[in-house]
Amino acid sequence: MAENIRLEIVTPKKSVVSEDVRIVVAPGTLGEFGVLVGHTPFLTTLKVGSVRYTDKNGGEQQIFVSGGFAEALPDKVTILAESAERRADIDIERAKSALKRAQQRMEEAKQKENIDYARARAALERALRRLSLVDAR
Ligand code: ATP
Repeated sequence: MAENIRLEIVTPKKSVVSEDVRIVVAPGTLGEFGVLVGHTPFLTTLKVGSVRYTDKNGGEQQIFVSGGFAEALPDKVTILAESAERRADIDIERAKSALKRAQQRMEEAKQKENIDYARARAALERALRRLSLVDAR
């Protein structure tokens, strides 16, 4: 049996990862899970967080995902996410601005009915996860 597993991370805009890897660890809605080659097939939804994998040279990689779906097959993991970024592609200033904006909206939502608190909370979560991935909070 091959020792690597194919990892595909795809957004509506582009393919972010398409490579053979040793192990994938992803933030499932019901908890973090790891997939090695030969895993039993399953489908799950994902939370906002990071997908970690060990590439075939042994390097550790992290990808931000904004939630989505994962399909695990014995030789392949496919992740579909609304947005996904490699660590090096995360724009720190953009994430800091998004964080501030979301915090302001959540504050305003306490007084104004037309501000969507859940939407602001979700934006806050994405910004915090992006910043914690680059370790720049
Ligand atoms: P923003 O308010 O800054 O757009 P957001 O969390 O609402 O942040 P998303 O809806 O998750 O943004 O993503 C929209 C697009 O912008 C996606 O293609 C995503 O990869 C990209 N993106 C968003 N924030 C960043 C960031 N900080 N660094 C790099 N790309 C980003």
